[in-house]
Amino acid sequence: MAYNKLTVQEQIKRVSENGFNIQYIDNPCLEVQLSAVKRDGCAIEYIKDPYLEVQIAAVKQNGFSIIQIKSPPCLEVQLASVKQHGWAIQYIDNTCLEVQLAAVKENGLSIRFINNPCLEVQLESIKENYNSIEYIKNPFLEVQLAAVGQDGFVIQYIENPCLEVQEVAVQQNIDAIKCINNPFLEVQIYVIQQNKDKIKYINNPHPRISNYLNSGNERFLYERELRCRYCGQYYLEGEKCC
Ligand SMILES: [Zn+2]
Repeated sequence: MAYNKLTVQEQIKRVSENGFNIQYIDNPCLEVQLSAVKRDGCAIEYIKDPYLEVQIAAVKQNGFSIIQIKSPPCLEVQLASVKQHGWAIQYIDNTCLEVQLAAVKENGLSIRFINNPCLEVQLESIKENYNSIEYIKNPFLEVQLAAVGQDGFVIQYIENPCLEVQEVAVQQNIDAIKCINNPFLEVQIYVIQQNKDKIKYINNPHPRISNYLNSGNERFLYERELRCRYCGQYYLEGEKCC
């Protein structure tokens, strides 16, 4: 092609306008290679055995251009790639902790491409984006607490949340009670004490909650109650029914 006859300066000009023009140059020199991938990282596809420097420049311009690197990329290239775009981690095999951390720091949701992420990686992903919890199988308790502490509604992504997680979620946002199936009695009481109207968000409220709301007597929430054998109503121990 005609570009082979151009001077290096002219070749640089061509690839700086469009990185993919490098496909018209046989054996481009390092400078030309660098100019091409700095314009379009994916132009590395047309460079045979690119220098390490070129690989790094390519993934810095576009993290996904790591797909175009034929030889297994070294750690430095992997890191530069996921720092540009965390999701590029899906194209890297057997990533180490350092690469995983860099990926979730750039984009927490990239944890979806990591098998069995460790606690540290899980926590970093939540720090970057608490919605990441949706993509973590069996998140650690610490991770669950960190996520619902930022947005109570993400409790919907946690299977059978424990009492502590439920409490933190409704403290963060009382309406998170909507997202909890069978909330613990303690959580129901907390919510009702904040706002009685929230009973509409509780499926099968505990009888103590209904009795409190029907009678207005707060003692129903805490004290021992009995069921009347004659009329079936609940009453507090020490008080009379029928
Ligand atoms: Zn009775």
